[in-house]
Amino acid sequence: MADSVEIESQYAPPIAECAHCEHMLPPGLGEKECKVCGAVCRVSHPPTIDSLTDEALPCPHCNTVVVAGTDERPVDISCGACMGSFTLTPKIVKVEIDCPGCERTLRIRPRPGTRELKCPACESKFNVTF
Ligand SMILES: [Zn+2]
Ligand SMILES: [Zn+2]
Ligand SMILES: [Zn+2]
Repeated sequence: MADSVEIESQYAPPIAECAHCEHMLPPGLGEKECKVCGAVCRVSHPPTIDSLTDEALPCPHCNTVVVAGTDERPVDISCGACMGSFTLTPKIVKVEIDCPGCERTLRIRPRPGTRELKCPACESKFNVTF
């Protein structure tokens, strides 16, 4: 659909760690497979589930406040007032990393495993592991 509207959710669970190898799990709730060791872990975070279920936001079409009513993300929501629909997408979690070369703070999307980052300010390269 050409006119589908996506809105990023305001809430996301904290990043969970694999119970086996302590690397980060893919973001989100439910059963997650560790990308590093392959273990399947169940991620639950009741305060976030409550926040997601109760999340209220103005309809992008008519501004009527709509309540999500579910912790599923993404979820398609239909506004009861204008019948318009939109998609509530998962919040993108970012973490802040200090560059070891110049102390600039980089904001990145964490991904499991080790990767190389390059600081845009001083161009030094360094590895981060999640
Ligand atoms: Zn693991
Ligand atoms: Zn509406
Ligand atoms: Zn730097």
